Amino acid sequence: MSQSSNLYRLQQIDSPIDQARARIREIEVELSNNAALSQAQEYVKSTEQSLQDARKSLRKTEETVQDQRVKINQAESVLYGGKVRNPKELQDLQNDVAALKRYLSVLEDRQLDAMLALEDAEREHEQATGKLEEAQAHTAEQQAGLRGEFTQLHKTVERLEIERQAAATAVNPADLSLYEQLRQTRRGVAVAKVSSQACGACGSLLTPALVQAAHSSNQLIRCTSCGRILYVG
Ligand SMILES: [Zn+2]
Repeated sequence: MSQSSNLYRLQQIDSPIDQARARIREIEVELSNNAALSQAQEYVKSTEQSLQDARKSLRKTEETVQDQRVKINQAESVLYGGKVRNPKELQDLQNDVAALKRYLSVLEDRQLDAMLALEDAEREHEQATGKLEEAQAHTAEQQAGLRGEFTQLHKTVERLEIERQAAATAVNPADLSLYEQLRQTRRGVAVAKVSSQACGACGSLLTPALVQAAHSSNQLIRCTSCGRILYVG
């Protein structure tokens, strides 16, 4: 086996390791943040607040209606109590009672509105709770899927690392260090396969002499454009 084919084999192990590790990092991020779930939680919180406000408003209108009824009762007991006999005063009292009753009906309308508003708030809260439950179920399912993938990826990396160790022993230390250096500076790809007289990584056309040298030479031949080690398969 030529050195370039040993390095190419190494590259074919390192690339999937890189991909698996990148996906592992992505999964770690996905597992740590969950926007949909926190949005649903926020929604529930806001509907809880609206519900409390609506309950408070209703209580207030109920108290006001109750107070108004007490006022009417008091006015009516004076009116029909028999102590007031003066017709002018009686007329005034009757007018007062009528005015109090008119305002009572305004207050009762407000109470009805508050009851309807509370019903709306309850409905919205129920919907929000349902959505949160859905989001929780969905998140649990999604996270279980991601954890499964995560475990698989770790196993793949472990297996490839063992393969890599074996493949690396076939490469001499100087070539290995060139390879590592190129991997760092060439986005992980140190060895390019020659295909149709061109560098498989950067696409540059190579001279026939260079391709021939890459094919037969025991020395490492590098792409004149990107500097990667060329491998002719
Ligand atoms: Zn190239």
